Amino acid sequence: MEKHVVVIFPHPDDEAFGAAGTIARFREQGIPVTYLCGTLGEMGRNMGNPTFATRESLPEIRKEELIAACQVLDIDLEMLGYRDKTIEFEDRQQIAEHLLGYLNKLKPSLVITYYPGYAVHPDHDAFGAAAVSAVSQMDQADRPELWALAIKKGKEADLGEPDLQFDITATFTQKFEAIIAHKSQASGILGGINQGPGSLDQIVRDKLSHEAFYKWVF
Ligand SMILES: [Zn+2]
Repeated sequence: MEKHVVVIFPHPDDEAFGAAGTIARFREQGIPVTYLCGTLGEMGRNMGNPTFATRESLPEIRKEELIAACQVLDIDLEMLGYRDKTIEFEDRQQIAEHLLGYLNKLKPSLVITYYPGYAVHPDHDAFGAAAVSAVSQMDQADRPELWALAIKKGKEADLGEPDLQFDITATFTQKFEAIIAHKSQASGILGGINQGPGSLDQIVRDKLSHEAFYKWVF
């Protein structure tokens, strides 16, 4: 059983779409989970549907949504204060050291982050790379396991099938509530998923009731 799980992603809502079912499962087992969230997603294109955010109000709105989503999932939250859409230009080692500070304090048995190069968005790839670097810099004796989330289409051709594949139907409700907590983003992203026949609820269920990770080999 895990001791403490640390989730490291750059944007509010990354945790909800990518790992919330798995996170909820850990919480049901009483395992503490901390989300280290890189930015406030303040450069996001979605402004709510119908629109209720502006470029000026978006950072505060997304911060409130992030806090609400973490309450739904019953996890601790640390906001790291990076600027959205610029993480790839930050000093990688500096971010890794920042993350290391948290990891040394929290002493997780497991870290979940994006698989660098297979995470589609430059922020995702850069933050995932910094997280992998941070964990790799820990002493082998203290080093947590690392699960990497790859979302790039066709990733299996390079990486093979994910090592861990979870049916998260049992915690789907928590996951869906966490997604919906990100009000300014949810309808835009769910609308993008909702292409093709069938009800939105069923499509969302089909698409999101499965979470998969690669075990990182150091
Ligand atoms: Zn993201």
